[in-house]
Amino acid sequence: MKYTIKIHSILAIALSLFWPLVAQPANPVIDSLIHLITYDSYVAHFDSLRTNNGHFRKVIEAEVQSADHDACRDYIFRSMQHVLGAENVSLHKFETGNYKGLANVIGIKKGSSPDCGFIIISAHYDSNNSNETQLTNCAPGANDNGTGLAALLEIARVLSEIETECSVIFAAWDFEEQMMYGFPVGSNHWFSHFVRNSKKKKADEVFPIKRKEIIANINFDMIGNPMETLDGKLVLWACLGNRSHKKFIDSYITIFNEYTQGISAINGGMIPYSDHYTFAARRIPAVENLESGFSDDPYYHTCNDNIENEKNINFSFATEVTRGGLAYILSQCLLKND
Ligand SMILES: [Zn+2]
Repeated sequence: MKYTIKIHSILAIALSLFWPLVAQPANPVIDSLIHLITYDSYVAHFDSLRTNNGHFRKVIEAEVQSADHDACRDYIFRSMQHVLGAENVSLHKFETGNYKGLANVIGIKKGSSPDCGFIIISAHYDSNNSNETQLTNCAPGANDNGTGLAALLEIARVLSEIETECSVIFAAWDFEEQMMYGFPVGSNHWFSHFVRNSKKKKADEVFPIKRKEIIANINFDMIGNPMETLDGKLVLWACLGNRSHKKFIDSYITIFNEYTQGISAINGGMIPYSDHYTFAARRIPAVENLESGFSDDPYYHTCNDNIENEKNINFSFATEVTRGGLAYILSQCLLKND
């Protein structure tokens, strides 16, 4: 069932009658839509993402990747197909050197206005364990990056029901945890194959897209265990991948903070890695949603970054971060007459 402009309008009128009596985000329609993301639906994804103690989604030098890596990829694929339609989801398969059996999962939702461009929402699904004193075959990555994946899938679920002016690409990247040629491997492979400076395609084909058609990249990478608070609120870092994007980050933060409750986004500074960097380095506005103080997170890149570790993930925080990201996306691409 699709939310239509009509439903939006009725909702907007109904809400505007009562709005002066309650808190006042700028747009009550956006506020109501982001609350379609719920704690329970966010958490439910973790049943299938392979983030238990002992799970392993780290990319290895091999012909095929681990069963957990592939099962996680397949769950993301099925979930996107379920909400976007089977014909709108594909695997971008690739390999590099001795690392084989890799694939980005790419979903697309076409917008109503062909000239509006694309927003790319993304999260990586491979994991890592950099602690050599632990079992090397244990990399459950529940926080890094099950939390980002759940955000991506929740936003896909909600956005799939809404008419938007611009198109949206949903990307679950493989092989983020290693940099090659200065970029995270999976997103850089996709960018190299599907983004061009000039357009050479038939009118009815979506790809390749033009670099200037990309409005922004909203990337979620490890949003579950913030280390910092500000005025009693848990802090999200909104990080840049290009210093020239400070204005964009400021605007992201303003909208994020306008719609979220109990948490606060601040400029987390420059992060020249993770998948937002693939876009930011090419002068495409990009933001990295990242828990504050992530390098002090005791479970980061360890076997303890699993779903059974009760201290690992603050799901209320991660759910609210997802809502804040969606608020920004809606502010950019919701139909203008809504
Ligand atoms: Zn990560």
